[in-house]
Amino acid sequence: MKKYVFLDLARLNAPYLDEMKAAACRVIDSGRYIGGKEVEDFENELAAYVGTRYAVGVSNGLDALRLIIRAYKILGRLHEGDYVALPANTYIASALAVTDNGLNIVAIRNDENYNLDSKRLSECKDVDIKAVMPVHLYGRTCWDSILQQTKDNAIIVEDNAQGIGATTADGRKTGSLGHAAAISFYPTKNLGALGDAGAVTTDDEEIAAIVRALANYGSDRRYHNIYQGFNCRLDPIQAAMLRVKLRHIDEENARRQAVADVYCSHIENKGIILPANDGRSVWHQFVVGCVDRDGFRRYLAENGVETDVNYPLPFFNQPCYSATDIAVSDVDNKVTAELCDSIVSLPIAHTTLQEAHEISEIINRYKAS
Ligand SMILES: *Cc1c(COP(=O)(O)O)cnc(C)c1O
Repeated sequence: MKKYVFLDLARLNAPYLDEMKAAACRVIDSGRYIGGKEVEDFENELAAYVGTRYAVGVSNGLDALRLIIRAYKILGRLHEGDYVALPANTYIASALAVTDNGLNIVAIRNDENYNLDSKRLSECKDVDIKAVMPVHLYGRTCWDSILQQTKDNAIIVEDNAQGIGATTADGRKTGSLGHAAAISFYPTKNLGALGDAGAVTTDDEEIAAIVRALANYGSDRRYHNIYQGFNCRLDPIQAAMLRVKLRHIDEENARRQAVADVYCSHIENKGIILPANDGRSVWHQFVVGCVDRDGFRRYLAENGVETDVNYPLPFFNQPCYSATDIAVSDVDNKVTAELCDSIVSLPIAHTTLQEAHEISEIINRYKAS
């Protein structure tokens, strides 16, 4: 039986192997293994791509989020105990960045696109929300006029871990929409390194400088430490890999869009809910809804189609958080908890159009019991 692999990282990187090997040799030969030109060049290329004045390479996406919030605390614009709104449906790292800094989470339910429902955000009047973290989940831009207006009254920190290359209706890229944004280059992300890596993008010179210092022991110059910082730097070897792949990110995202187009136009099954296809998502995941999730996944597995669930247990139900840790749950986290029981991610990362057609056929033959 033919296998439809969900994600094979070597296969994902295979088209860039020669370029990546040459770039790795360049770093090895340079003798510069921390910081330096490779990292600076990547930061400049990333800022140019996203459309921000600054990009600061850091160790991973979670650290990017943590350091942004820490920088706002240093500036006195966020304080311990402040309320940060984030979508109930997200990867746990979004939440960890908030609670690690001693701030409180306000969990907002998701809309029909699985993203933060901004109308619910604007109805949330009983707490003073000081910051909002829109997450471009599954690669879909989370931005609208409500969030644009919210930007005047609250700090907006985008979690752009899954969204690089996604755009707004007026063509602006995720990572340039809020006051600051975090990107993850975890190997499975659309722009993936060969290990952990991340970045902060922002137009705010102060935030960029504080994040840069914090990531380097809190030091603004050698042996001079203005903050009690961390070691959260981006390695030159990862920067070199990312420079290769950044040059191809638009092709990669276009390929994902083509697969999504096949799924959206060929899957016809009343039991399966397809995502909206507005041509602006970068399809980090292709997530469908279904009634009998376990049955659907079993059927697909029996037909050779590997799937995943992103994510099976929402952060607010994880053992590390008790009910009291989530200060205000936009009332019906139940919606998100139920959502988590009804979603399935189909293969998309290196799926060919032929495979997408075949998977669509398999899904069309599925009979929900
Ligand atoms: C991957 C991810 C992160 C964390 O990034 P890491 O580089 O793995 O630390 C944060 N938020 C979201 C939505 C993610 O998908």
